[in-house]
Amino acid sequence: MRGTMVSLSFFLIGSVLNLVSLGSPTNQSRASNGFSQQCTSVATKLHIPQANISFTEFVAANTTLQFPNADPSCTRPSQAVSANICRVGLSVKTSATSGIRMEVWLPQNWTGRFLSTGNGGLGGCIQYEDLDYAASLGFASVGTNNGHEGMTGESFLNNTGVIEDFAYRAVHTGVVIGKQVSEAFYGRPHSKSYYLGCSTGGRQGFKAVQSFPNDFDGVVAGAPAFSFNNLTSWSSGFLPLTGSPESATFVPLDMWPIVHQDVLAQCDMLDGVADGILESPDLCHYDPAGLLCTSGRNTTCLTAAQVQTVRRSYAPLLDADGSLIYPRLQPGAEGTEAPFTLFTGRAFGASDWFKYAVLNDTSWDPSTLSLADMCLSARLNLADIETWNGNLSAFKAAGGKLLHYHGLVDGVITSENSPRYYEHVSTTMQQTPAQLDDFYRFFRISGMAHCGGGPGASRIGNQARNSAGLDPEDNVLMAMVRWVEEGVAPEVVVGTRYKNGTTAGSGVDYKRRHCKWPARNVYNGIGDCKDPLNWDCI
Ligand code: CA
Repeated sequence: MRGTMVSLSFFLIGSVLNLVSLGSPTNQSRASNGFSQQCTSVATKLHIPQANISFTEFVAANTTLQFPNADPSCTRPSQAVSANICRVGLSVKTSATSGIRMEVWLPQNWTGRFLSTGNGGLGGCIQYEDLDYAASLGFASVGTNNGHEGMTGESFLNNTGVIEDFAYRAVHTGVVIGKQVSEAFYGRPHSKSYYLGCSTGGRQGFKAVQSFPNDFDGVVAGAPAFSFNNLTSWSSGFLPLTGSPESATFVPLDMWPIVHQDVLAQCDMLDGVADGILESPDLCHYDPAGLLCTSGRNTTCLTAAQVQTVRRSYAPLLDADGSLIYPRLQPGAEGTEAPFTLFTGRAFGASDWFKYAVLNDTSWDPSTLSLADMCLSARLNLADIETWNGNLSAFKAAGGKLLHYHGLVDGVITSENSPRYYEHVSTTMQQTPAQLDDFYRFFRISGMAHCGGGPGASRIGNQARNSAGLDPEDNVLMAMVRWVEEGVAPEVVVGTRYKNGTTAGSGVDYKRRHCKWPARNVYNGIGDCKDPLNWDCI
């Protein structure tokens, strides 16, 4: 009943917009008028038994959608819409105890392509900004709420259905339904299918490649949260490592810039130039011993306990027998996000995975996280959320292409886990990097923080706000389209840095060609280091 009322109200909105359009009878408005009518009638064409249509709505370009009922933790109260779209909302039951909420954005200027967006963290949130980015580029685009509302893990409590949606089912269901909606609306199937996601969205992309190899022709997956159980053990493990802000072991926020300068002093030149960017932080074996307070140095220095905290922050997480649980944080992260994410002395958001999914104990204290808890999480591997299958043969056989990237100052998911997966695939499939190049390419993005931002040439087009143009050379999504549709695979990913860091109007400071793994980027020692041609992938 409530769904019907919502539908009616949106139909009315659509009609009002029609009337507005009729006031200016240009060819463009007549076309948009027809599109708007087509949108309001799409519900009659859709016969998807497991899906309930919540609304259909024509949205004109330059409209700002408001989401007054959105979970505040999603921090997405509104979204500016860039292109004329038909917006379709659906709810889909996925099990007796779970379901997803999803939206399909169908652009008027459709290219014939389909695209699924992903999610972030433990959310719970349709990423409207990604829907708009893809729809504005002509993709029929889908996004889901990942099976629950909001950024916390509370919905996982005693509910395997919700956990399964989060681990693998929400994206796949959204794709299956979304493709049907797209075909019904446009009257023909999509030509090619794409995926774009980062963080949890990166893991979701790899889940599709591993388990649903026919869902996508091209997958762009960044900073993936794969090895998920061990990742959450590592990220949740910083609280017991640093202690609370009152602890003797805790390193205060204002010391991290000093640690960062010390990291740069030891490692910035490893790539040939002291530019504040580490092209190969994996080669940096940072030692904080020089920051120890002494009789001659008692300010801007660290106590012995704090030196040990810094050292442990950059050490891999090991099991009691010395085996690797999860690789170390890469040096450089202290200069961007890590002091505000991992080093805060407070519970990391992903520790909800232990509280509500692994331990099912709402009274659990994240500061007590133990090796036993970590091992339990890995052993349970709920709904195979680990997402660590190294056999991508089915995806390769289906003709799929995979572009994997990871920022090298990521302060949420260490970039050192990404090469580990690449090597895992290489070993499992017994393929050399030259052979994997046919369908799987991994790029390390220097100076990029978690999924965007950071001090380097990090604008690669993975998100609208992290884009510097639509040329396939500068934009990973358009590079993927070219790879799938023209067979031209990316050799490098070019990133852009603006002069003031954020605003295109400030002008381009420099570009850098980010290398394909296992190559690393090295300055050739000749000429301007801001000229990308003075760097070599070796
Ligand atoms: Ca450097």
